[in-house]
Amino acid sequence: MRVCVLGSGPIGIDFAVNAVARGFHVTLLERGASIAQNVCDWQHVQLFSPWHMNVSKQGKQVLEGMGRDITVFDSETVYPSGKELVDTYLHPLAEYLRKSGHCDVQTSTEAIAIGRGHFLKGQAIGSKRKGTPFTVQYKFLHDGSYGKLVADVVVDATGTYGNGNWLGAGGIPALGEQDVTMKITRDIPNVLELRNRFLGHSTAVVGSGASAITTLNALKDLASQNGEATVEVHWITRHGDSPYKRVENDPLPQRDRLAVLGNELAKGDSAGCPSNFKLTYHGHQHLHSIRQVDPNTLEMDLESDPVEGDAKYSKIQAHNVVANVGYRPCTDLHRELQVHQCYATEGPMKLAAALMAASGDASGDCLQQVAPGAQTMLNPEPDFFVIGMKAYGRSSAFLMRIGFEQVASVMELIDAP
Ligand SMILES: Cc1cc2nc3c(=O)[nH]c(=O)nc-3n(C[C@H](O)[C@H](O)[C@H](O)COP(=O)(O)OP(=O)(O)OC[C@H]3O[C@@H](n4cnc5c(N)ncnc54)[C@H](O)[C@@H]3O)c2cc1C
Repeated sequence: MRVCVLGSGPIGIDFAVNAVARGFHVTLLERGASIAQNVCDWQHVQLFSPWHMNVSKQGKQVLEGMGRDITVFDSETVYPSGKELVDTYLHPLAEYLRKSGHCDVQTSTEAIAIGRGHFLKGQAIGSKRKGTPFTVQYKFLHDGSYGKLVADVVVDATGTYGNGNWLGAGGIPALGEQDVTMKITRDIPNVLELRNRFLGHSTAVVGSGASAITTLNALKDLASQNGEATVEVHWITRHGDSPYKRVENDPLPQRDRLAVLGNELAKGDSAGCPSNFKLTYHGHQHLHSIRQVDPNTLEMDLESDPVEGDAKYSKIQAHNVVANVGYRPCTDLHRELQVHQCYATEGPMKLAAALMAASGDASGDCLQQVAPGAQTMLNPEPDFFVIGMKAYGRSSAFLMRIGFEQVASVMELIDAP
């Protein structure tokens, strides 16, 4: 069986490792210059889940078989950085895949479209398409040339990181946002490495999720490390005074520490912050419009949520704008396939419905989730699967541990005759 895996993040790699163990021939396509490029892009961030939650049984077995020391992978108290996850776990697994003789690992290769033989999207519904191989078209990014391959099973594990949402109210662009989009950072910047961009400059951080507080924490650390220069920050969020919901007796201390910091900063409590860290909180606000006023400065009009009375407007300027308002899946890749997509999350429908049903019982803590089983991984398009972060669409509740369960579920489905 020819299996094509798109994306070599933790979950794409785990799928490839499991498929190779079953003797399938795997092609693993990765857009980035390195395997796990998205994790490499946030390598400076410390994970909030400890090692034992970030590795799979199969992955550990492979590394043990390669003679590696796997003791750290059982740790419930060590929290790796993105870089440590790549260097200690994902790179060695990619090395195993390359040497296995069953897997072509192609980096700097972007999957751009998937088709099903000569079938048009509306031709032959569902199971009638089974048995016809897929065509995966890709682009070699080092020379701009194109190629295609044929596969019996295609697994889309291309993630969502860096594909940020728009900044305006209701998820649409703020007025003028498209014109300045190249000036907006839509990932978690490595603030300490890019210090000259942030030190002595002003930065607008938009959002109140895990990414936003990670960016704010890094800006605070930058100020601590450089007592002289000011780090000026405007923090804009549609939430109010306590934007972070804490989990009672949170078993993940890193997550709780950031939630506490976020709520303190939102209340204007700067105890614990250095005096050169100057944060202004703009709660209950969203971006109405944004424009460039000189080569180094963006100007924004903020609009208050009209909770009581009419909306009010204010103006701010910043040298940097960091949009940490969530990520969305790129659904273009599988546009010509028969994928039933959720109208709310843009994830595959069966899984999205199961997650939505389960969220009624959940406490809002992503740790409480369970993977809802193999049947929810099925699409109308036979032998096409979306796994990993992308399978959750716009939802940010995904954990690697859940991704490893998804891999096991899809294996179960493709193993079945
Ligand atoms: C900052 C941050 C911290 C996180 N911390 C945790 C944590 O502590 N614990 C936890 O369990 N989860 C955490 N997550 C959530 C999630 O588990 C990770 O994002 C994880 O990396 C998702 O794995 P993935 O393989 O699904 O996708 P990704 O890691 O995003 O990998 C997708 C890969 O696909 C590639 N790609 C994209 N498009 C294409 C294309 N067209 N063709 C070929 N390749 C393509 C990308 O370059 C990338 O390498 C965190 C997420 C972020 C962003």
